[in-house]
Amino acid sequence: MVVLLDLDGTLIHTASTKYKEYKDGISQISIEDVPVFAGAREFVATLTNQGHKVYIISDSYPSYVKTISENIFHLEYLALSDKPNTSKTLKFLSDKGVNVNNDDIILVGDSSLDIHLGRKLRCKTIYLQLYNQNSEEFDDNDGIDERTTLKYGPTYFAKNYNTALEIVNFPSRHLLAIEGAALGLDTCNAIRFWNYKAPDHIVAIRCLARQENGACDKMSQAKIYYQIDNPERTAETLDILAKGASSYLASLSRYSQHYKWDIFTYVPDKTTTTPPNKMKEIFNLIETTIPKGDIFSWSDNIRTSLRQEKNYHDRSQYIDQNLKINSSNLVLGKNIIVIDDQLTTGATAFAIRKKLKENGANNILFITLFYMILEVKDDKICPKCGKPLSIKVNRRNGTKFYSCQPERYGGDGCGYIENID
Ligand SMILES: [Zn+2]
Repeated sequence: MVVLLDLDGTLIHTASTKYKEYKDGISQISIEDVPVFAGAREFVATLTNQGHKVYIISDSYPSYVKTISENIFHLEYLALSDKPNTSKTLKFLSDKGVNVNNDDIILVGDSSLDIHLGRKLRCKTIYLQLYNQNSEEFDDNDGIDERTTLKYGPTYFAKNYNTALEIVNFPSRHLLAIEGAALGLDTCNAIRFWNYKAPDHIVAIRCLARQENGACDKMSQAKIYYQIDNPERTAETLDILAKGASSYLASLSRYSQHYKWDIFTYVPDKTTTTPPNKMKEIFNLIETTIPKGDIFSWSDNIRTSLRQEKNYHDRSQYIDQNLKINSSNLVLGKNIIVIDDQLTTGATAFAIRKKLKENGANNILFITLFYMILEVKDDKICPKCGKPLSIKVNRRNGTKFYSCQPERYGGDGCGYIENID
């Protein structure tokens, strides 16, 4: 594996502003002043000893990056890499004999710029979050927008070097549950989107696959996401979704015996959607020892769809007014898992949490099959008119293509289209 390591925040703890003059090359840092993370030297040494090709890719100034890369980590490096632009990294890798199209590459970093760069390079990414781990505060109005790096959709998430090492050596074992299921693998990972611990209960949000726009590594599964709403969706698609969810639920009893879940339910579709009851069908296919129950139903007289309510406030209000609890006995004092198809703003999750808490629920785990990650454009230019191309997905069959978006689709391009294999 080719392993690209970010420097600041990934190997050294230089978040404090006092390091800025060093990073910018204004003054020279001395080796003994470099705040190396505990375990970082061993992490790099292990990767190298295991035969991986390891490089540092940093946006900081050359003299600073050189001093640290060569003297502390004994690695070759690229400084002033200009993330998330790919040109310098591509040139550096090509000089080292790395072929970005064929070689297996994984990028490890702590910021959205790293993940952004990784997606443009179409390589796997590990979001390594060694600090800033105090995400316990909870504010409904914030939604989840602060979690920018997760919104960039890394392939993997790690809180320590051991997990990152595990991922580099066994990448398929660590895929998100549905992304693994799509490859026929039994993985059980989820993106931990939200954790809230009150003295007497917890609320958590977990997502089982990424739904990407634009460039991404090959593990992402927007293709399957679009099949959920497709009237001609196949049994195979439903099977992948159900298997991913089943694996994740099974892992809950293995890894968190602490919480006993009383009931597993889903966010239903209105009977007017096509295909009808699309979540119900997936829900029925999910295998779990947790008792299933239908907690929610929609008011009879609603006309608009939740999907038409675009912003956070409107979605919350829509759910508040129209989603009903069938029987309070299913909720009062219970630990409840709710599954839904997609996380976008988080409005659905938080509105459902509110409703369940008002009805006396205890712990709540909200799971979504997919979460929408931010769009990442790559650097491809239209060969006809020179404007930047967008990557689009054909919603019928999930294939991706480049589009020089014409006016009728909201762009200013010439309409040129090129398929992506
Ligand atoms: Zn064009």
